[in-house]
Amino acid sequence: MEKSTTERCPVYKKCGGCQLDTAYPEQLGFKQRKVERLLRRFCKVAPIIGMDKPCHYRNKVQAAFYTNRSGKIISGVYQSGTHHVVGIDSCMIEDKTADKIIVAVRKLLPSFKLTTYNEDTGKGFLRHVLVRRGFSTNEIMLVLVTGTPVFPSKNNFVKAILKQFPEITTIVQNVNNLSTNLVLGDRQNVLYGKGYIEDVLCGCRFRISPKSFYQINPVQTGVLYGKAIEFAQLRGDETVLDTYCGIGTIGIVAAKNGAGRVIGVELNGDAVRDAITNAKRNSLKNIRFYKGDAGEFMESAAEEEERPDVVFMDPPRAGSSEKFLRSLIKMSPERVVYVSCNPETLARDLRFLSENSDYKVKKIQPVDMFPHTEHIECVVLLTKEAKK
Ligand code: SAH
Repeated sequence: MEKSTTERCPVYKKCGGCQLDTAYPEQLGFKQRKVERLLRRFCKVAPIIGMDKPCHYRNKVQAAFYTNRSGKIISGVYQSGTHHVVGIDSCMIEDKTADKIIVAVRKLLPSFKLTTYNEDTGKGFLRHVLVRRGFSTNEIMLVLVTGTPVFPSKNNFVKAILKQFPEITTIVQNVNNLSTNLVLGDRQNVLYGKGYIEDVLCGCRFRISPKSFYQINPVQTGVLYGKAIEFAQLRGDETVLDTYCGIGTIGIVAAKNGAGRVIGVELNGDAVRDAITNAKRNSLKNIRFYKGDAGEFMESAAEEEERPDVVFMDPPRAGSSEKFLRSLIKMSPERVVYVSCNPETLARDLRFLSENSDYKVKKIQPVDMFPHTEHIECVVLLTKEAKK
């Protein structure tokens, strides 16, 4: 049996990025049992779809920068629950090129007399580095998060890193001088290229800006969306709602796969802007995106007698709201496809729907989006049971 990658990870305990250090087949068994314990009472659970190669799957890698007492620059992750940086040069779940770029940035700093940012004094320059790679397009974005807007020897630094990694397609400086746990600040300055990358998923092209939400495991996202579209059983004339839509990925894939009309709703304004661009980028005219709370949106859409055939819902870990679920029942779509990143809140929401409506759970498919971590993703199909 293949050994788990994290068993060999020297910083497993300190880092906290991974929570499971058993062999991969055992991890899948653990996740399967957890989903069955929580959801079996609703419907039979299909076997979890794992990865063939559960390594280096993360397309987005970020590292914090720090200078220790002897003046050595360290890059890596915060030790779980602290602000102490654990030095990491390569990680079994992160993209290899991204890791190499981060190390190269660190090695370049001294020759350009660039310092690292000190969280206690608020002084210094480089705070974090973020790298995102489009696995299909191989476009690479390097984001340098700095404590000050002033970037000494900016052009030469950009030239030096591009010389080592000509595959980088865009470089962005992001300024974050706030005392915050968020990596990225609000001010941005494109130093090279377009300021965003694109990736192709399920035959559609998506624009990814430094701050956009984009699924971090593109291989398994293809599997997940494939299942979601299969469960939706689109024939070509349906009205489809994509709720909690992020940058519009599921709705856009649905529109490409035959949905007649798609309406997306999302709370984050930046994501909505990306969703609109993405719809245009894929030459789709039958799709509209709205910014707002999904529950509020569903309530007013239900009042306006909107009658979608299929509703996709992909809420954050907290799950959906009662307002959303009550309006969903009122709207009464033929099929509901629930994509969930938290089986506990999924169980709660499915219980509410079973107790308060004619919806029955027909399929439950777990997909391993996050090998070596405890996170579990599921896609669920609900349909209305015909009234007796
Ligand atoms: N379906 C997308 C995004 C899923 S992540 C994808 O597959 O990429 C969940 C999304 O729900 C996030 O984009 C988050 O901003 C959004 N969200 C969180 N709370 C929300 C709410 N109350 N109403 C609408 N969207 C919400």
